[in-house]
Amino acid sequence: MKLVFATNNQHKLEEVAAILGDSIELLSLKDINCDVDIPETADTLEGNALLKAQYIYNNYGLDAFADDTGLEIEALNNEPGVYSARYAGEDKSAQANMLKVLDKLQGKENRKAQFRTAISLILDGKEYLFEGIIRGKIIEEKRGEAGFGYDPIFMPDGYDKTFAELGNDIKNDISHRALAVKKLNKFFNSL
Ligand code: IMP
Repeated sequence: MKLVFATNNQHKLEEVAAILGDSIELLSLKDINCDVDIPETADTLEGNALLKAQYIYNNYGLDAFADDTGLEIEALNNEPGVYSARYAGEDKSAQANMLKVLDKLQGKENRKAQFRTAISLILDGKEYLFEGIIRGKIIEEKRGEAGFGYDPIFMPDGYDKTFAELGNDIKNDISHRALAVKKLNKFFNSL
């Protein structure tokens, strides 16, 4: 089965392809000659994932899925959430985003947080939604070098290392995105 993953992030594409296996031929936006920066104007993760998958289905007539992820911090009313990439501004600086989070959490006892991924799939014109959540906490200062985004300040429950210290092998096995993609894979296996 051919399926478009509405992303240009090669790293994500490989991570997802490894979970979905050989029975699905994954195409990236580049593979279908789509060089549009698909607008992510919804105010929820689910909404943005759906916008991206719909864009491909409506403009290319191809089955497609898309993901959107956010860091949800309990003491900040689930901020940065859908604004995770640009929390500290439009230049999307991971360092500035982490500093903003650490600053806002200063003096707060509740450091509970979760990463949540929503995947929207459009298959034969029907919409499906999958979700992956990993719970944890925001530590006081950055630790570790691996990964990206908020990895250095997020410590998943059951571990004493941040995502950035755990490294990609462990992270890609337990992460929010992996959990959502595993659900997507289960769905395909049940067809
Ligand atoms: P996206 O929807 O995957 O592009 O994620 C949106 C934003 O959430 C990214 O720009 C990061 O700031 C953050 N994010 C998503 N996934 C992760 C992750 O696995 N680790 C750390 N930050 C992440």
